[in-house]
Amino acid sequence: MTGRFALMIDPVAADVQRSDFADTFTQVDAAAPALSVGELSTQRGDGVFESIGVVDGHAQEVVPHLERLAHSARLCDLPVPNLAQWRQAIDHAAAQLGSGESVIKLILSRGVEHGPTPTAWVTAAPAADFSAVRERGVRVVTLDRGYDLGAAERAPWLLLGAKTLSYAVNMAALREAHRRGADDAIFLSSDGFVLEAPTASLILRFGDRFVTPAPNGGILHGTTQLSVYEYLAAQGFDVGYDRIPATDLPQADAAWLVSSVRLAAAITAVDDVPLPVEHTLTADLNRYLLSPRD
Ligand code: PLP
Repeated sequence: MTGRFALMIDPVAADVQRSDFADTFTQVDAAAPALSVGELSTQRGDGVFESIGVVDGHAQEVVPHLERLAHSARLCDLPVPNLAQWRQAIDHAAAQLGSGESVIKLILSRGVEHGPTPTAWVTAAPAADFSAVRERGVRVVTLDRGYDLGAAERAPWLLLGAKTLSYAVNMAALREAHRRGADDAIFLSSDGFVLEAPTASLILRFGDRFVTPAPNGGILHGTTQLSVYEYLAAQGFDVGYDRIPATDLPQADAAWLVSSVRLAAAITAVDDVPLPVEHTLTADLNRYLLSPRD
């Protein structure tokens, strides 16, 4: 089956000891009504999600995705997700996806206002074809994110390290990038440091060292970036996390945006300044990211 479908999940308390959760999810066609009007009108983007890449029926990096779902839920004061239950729903969905690339989304929302439980569901659908952008790369513009590097610690209610359902700002940044003739954006902190893209992490190369902005509260810790670092470290490269001034961006020897479904896209220009592109390494990274990983 390669179609679109969803699994509606009955939230199960985190401390329940059981090995089979199959009776806690119900499969529905993606076009079928499944959420109540109350859910859609009151949840205010108040929830968390994950997008997992699936290659030939194998869901990639499931453990890091589940750990980030739990981290986001904690930051949002949502009940801790039962990871064994979500894992089983992911396996159930992945087993029905055919060959090629697909995407499984996990969604945990606050639910109907004054309702007894959050609402939880998983969707499965074919992925868009990103083969051209993986080869061609992306032109990016830098955009001010409007807060400094200390904001996450100073104002935890901004939920800066959580992958929340409130992605309107991220989508607006992508539209602004398109208006400026670019494919994607890199957010900068107001004090002049590099953060992340609206739907991807940033990795820069300086000589034999690869560096990504430290995910200390203000940005997401990318699961794809973690996998890329595993690959690069195994090839003998030095990898690390840092504060990266925006002025370093145009000095990079190469740079990539990496994310779970599009995978690695080389950055060909930043604010119209061309960057060197490493076609062979980009192809190697994408080959690795398309191989089965847990
Ligand atoms: N940063 C943001 C804001 C994202 O939305 C995403 C993915 O959607 C990422 C980084 C990359 O995360 P991952 O590699 O886990 O997909």
